[in-house]
Amino acid sequence: MNEDENYREGIEAGGDDYLIKPVSFMIIKAKIRAMERIAEMRDQLNQLNAELEALSQLDSLTQIFNRRTFNELAQQQWALAKRHQQPISALMIDVDHFKLFNDHYGHPAGDTCLKKVTHAIKSCLHRSTDILGRYGGEEFIVLLPETDAKGAMRVAQAISEALENIQIRHDVSPSSTYVTASIGGATCLRTTGHDLEELIKNADRALYKAKRAGRNRSWIDEVATHKTLLLADANQDLVSYFSVHLQAHFNLLVADTQRECLELAVDLHPDLILLGSSIAATEAGAELCKILARTPKTASITLALVSETASSHNMDLAKNLGINHHFDTALSGPALLNKIIQALR
Ligand code: GH3
Ligand code: MG
Ligand code: MG
Repeated sequence: MNEDENYREGIEAGGDDYLIKPVSFMIIKAKIRAMERIAEMRDQLNQLNAELEALSQLDSLTQIFNRRTFNELAQQQWALAKRHQQPISALMIDVDHFKLFNDHYGHPAGDTCLKKVTHAIKSCLHRSTDILGRYGGEEFIVLLPETDAKGAMRVAQAISEALENIQIRHDVSPSSTYVTASIGGATCLRTTGHDLEELIKNADRALYKAKRAGRNRSWIDEVATHKTLLLADANQDLVSYFSVHLQAHFNLLVADTQRECLELAVDLHPDLILLGSSIAATEAGAELCKILARTPKTASITLALVSETASSHNMDLAKNLGINHHFDTALSGPALLNKIIQALR
């Protein structure tokens, strides 16, 4: 067709050019060459955009932190929480049945929905230290410093309510007629001995539980933050040294006899037993180690020998009892803490 109007329609319909037959071979070749040049430029532009996106701190769709930046900022908050011994929580928010939403309303509508969800989440975060990031396609993450499980639950519920209030229609969702989200949260009351990755992994697990429990709900788990240490020794100096340095970081149980140690180990299942040399060096101590090792409830508990000095005598004692860790009261508080954290891994 060779009318001007046909030409206009062809371009409007998405063509980059409009040729009217007959077209000479030479012209076709030249046109193809020009088109190739444009295609090359477009590919370069796409690549540059991808590189820019990687350099940028923000997710281009939602303008909140991308995953990498979230992780960096969250690490800083984690370090502060550790230093000030403050609780910290994370929420993982995943839009329910979003694939169905996209399939039904189309991808651009899906993008708009994600922007609205971002806005709703943002409206529930009031502290300047709260960090919001886009973690994946329709998955958001929030870090809540200085927030315990109760506080995290409150924020999660506020987010669900905010989503409910904006009423984005989702006619094909099996859970609701509006867009909803499932929220998994984890709280770390004491960060000692834990890391940010563990907190996030726990939030992810909680999210899975929220999905399994029926979606459109929140599930917050408290990470077993207080690990339990059992110190068995009657020497008051030794006990007070460990109490001073460990009390703030662990549940510290103290037993002053081998018998009490066994009882507490069976009943309360500590994560680590610190066996004092005054007990360990006795026959009863050797017997205790054997019983702990063959009792199913206690066999997996890590044992450490503790003493006032790191003498070769004590080293030998640990070796004879099959104990791999040894701590002495000459260690500085931070060094002790570090060694204990290593032993707990
Ligand atoms: P569930 O309730 O189990 O979370 O189901 P779901 O459909 O939300 O989960 P699934 O992970 O199967 O699907 C996520 C979908 O999110 C896949 C994809 O279609 C969509 N998606 C991911 N990123 C984007 C995006 O940037 N824009 C749009 N529009 N859709 C996206
Ligand atoms: Mg998902
Ligand atoms: Mg989803």
